[in-house]
Amino acid sequence: MLEGILAYIGIGANLQDPLEQCRQALEELSAVSGIALERVSSFYRTEPVIPESAVREQREELEKQGWFVNAAAEIRTVLPPWKLLKELRRIENSLGRVRTVKGGPRIIDLDILLYGQEIVRDEELTVPHPEMHRRLFVLEPLCEIASYLIHPVFGVSMRGLKDRLDNDKIVERI
Ligand code: ADP
Ligand code: MG
Repeated sequence: MLEGILAYIGIGANLQDPLEQCRQALEELSAVSGIALERVSSFYRTEPVIPESAVREQREELEKQGWFVNAAAEIRTVLPPWKLLKELRRIENSLGRVRTVKGGPRIIDLDILLYGQEIVRDEELTVPHPEMHRRLFVLEPLCEIASYLIHPVFGVSMRGLKDRLDNDKIVERI
């Protein structure tokens, strides 16, 4: 597939067998018609990040959850962003994802980090992903495969975003 847009997908899991679910998600992603898997980062073991929006009772629960496995993938796709999101949700569902609280434990999470240099902002979809520049568990794997990418809103490379991150969470290559 020579035409299409380069997009970047963030992959994460922390329930059941996180590494296996991440592998399966990648396999399913590569099987979608209109998506070619170009590059995949290493897998990383990462400490959970609690969303600032979580209230105290939720916070205590969220702090008890297991560590995540995270990775990033470069795909080439002819699907528009909303169709891509639909495919990601389908794969999440097929792996048995149940939606609970934001930032909570999950069997699999697939996010669109970047879609070429496009900016999308609607109720269903925000691209670039609104949290990506604050999260080492996203930027570390992404920098491994594409540190030179420019964030279309901030005009800063992934490397630049990572270097200026003030982060106290552990992200280690498996
Ligand atoms: P989170 O990943 O923030 O923990 P979810 O995976 O449950 O939460 O996603 C909730 C919703 O976020 C999705 O149903 C989707 O409509 C929306 N969303 C907005 N922007 C994106 C994006 N860039 N990638 C994936 N989902 C997104
Ligand atoms: Mg998600």
